[in-house]
Amino acid sequence: MSESVNYGYLNGEFKPVNEINVSIESKGFNYGLGCFGGVRAYWNETQSQLYIFRALDHFKRLALSAKILVMSPPNSPEESVAILKELLRKNDTRQNTYIRPLLYHDSNEITPEFLEDDTSFAIYTRPLNHYFNTDTGLKLCVSSWRRISDNSIPGRIKATGAYVNSALAKHQAKKAGYDDAIFLTESGEVSEASAAHIFIVRNGKLISPPSTTDNLEGITRRTVLEIVAPELGLEVEERKISRTELYVADEVFLCGTGAEIAPVTEIDSRIVGDGKVGEISKKCQSTYWDIAKGNNEKYLNLLTPIW
Ligand code: PMP
Repeated sequence: MSESVNYGYLNGEFKPVNEINVSIESKGFNYGLGCFGGVRAYWNETQSQLYIFRALDHFKRLALSAKILVMSPPNSPEESVAILKELLRKNDTRQNTYIRPLLYHDSNEITPEFLEDDTSFAIYTRPLNHYFNTDTGLKLCVSSWRRISDNSIPGRIKATGAYVNSALAKHQAKKAGYDDAIFLTESGEVSEASAAHIFIVRNGKLISPPSTTDNLEGITRRTVLEIVAPELGLEVEERKISRTELYVADEVFLCGTGAEIAPVTEIDSRIVGDGKVGEISKKCQSTYWDIAKGNNEKYLNLLTPIW
């Protein structure tokens, strides 16, 4: 155990992350034949405890990604949670942390083809407080890049290669002075942001487009729909959203493991609602944080304590 060495994990071994490398010949690197997860652990100062939020759900989703990409993960989701716990303990982790598990095809044949027996499994972690500014309201644009469709590269999963799509939209948005971009599907419905889901609020109801509009099967989106909204007594609706509905929404927020719940106050230079961070968005944010950080006893079953 050391405070200065940051350990990672690869195929059964814990090693300093800077000693874990991928071959330049690896298919995972050459063709993006891999998938990953994005998990968070929150440090609860009052309880001196580190909690991983929905660890098993994240590794179950990774297993679904692996299925689509014809991989044989070396570990079950339950075993992967145990490996992650050991890694966080080895790193003596006592701060808000982002966790990146990866599965990738690691053989070196030149053909972009899935082999079933070449799967590598890696995890690294790094400190992360906020990914977005979650206080003041984000400014977004609708991207001219369309969301990849399920029949080209499935957005339902976190496929490494698919993030070219996210990077194209994010780059365009940032260069134009926005915080992030909203993708439309090929047929023009709202899909999601570059690495987060979107909710709009209309007449007190939370509305969010389903995964069948080419967005990731999201863990935070489900948490908002199935836990946060009922906690707050809010009605929810999963349905298609068209572009101009974004402009007339009372409130908009993004959500994701990294993104957390991040209110939006401007889209395509139109003010959302009254231009201030919305009251419902704020309530969703604080309810979510209470659950994810271990401050709501009712939902401790969603958390994996490390210490
Ligand atoms: N969409 C995309 C494209 C993402 O990369 C992420 C981040 N994982 C999300 C949505 C949010 O999903 P989750 O709540 O499962 O982290």
